[in-house]
Amino acid sequence: MNNKPLRRLSVEEATRLAESAPANTCAHCRPFSSPGWESFPATASAGALQAVGSLWLPGDDEPTLEETPRPKGVDDWSAQAPISLTLRPYNRCEIWACQHCHLPFLRYTEYGGYYVDARIRELHAERLVD
Ligand SMILES: [Zn+2]
Repeated sequence: MNNKPLRRLSVEEATRLAESAPANTCAHCRPFSSPGWESFPATASAGALQAVGSLWLPGDDEPTLEETPRPKGVDDWSAQAPISLTLRPYNRCEIWACQHCHLPFLRYTEYGGYYVDARIRELHAERLVD
């Protein structure tokens, strides 16, 4: 894990990252390929992915719990699920990018009662609904 404080990213910056990103993973970030949310061990990203920043930083106001609206039949984990960077869970994601092709990835850690679930999802501009 990267313990350095993350830089704040605005929704506009994150959107620009998505818009300038390649359409697909490269050989280096393919192991993290995840058009929809996938659980992954946080340590697995060492190397290929680099932290770019975070849409939420400790000390900020709690972001809204309102969830990104989804079309009927599309669940949270679907590759088709829309991404609203101002709504849950995207409004507290970190953004990481492949060091080689710069494809951005959203990372989100869900803290349950007895578990911690680290999730990752590719950030593609065509899923953005902001
Ligand atoms: Zn890559």
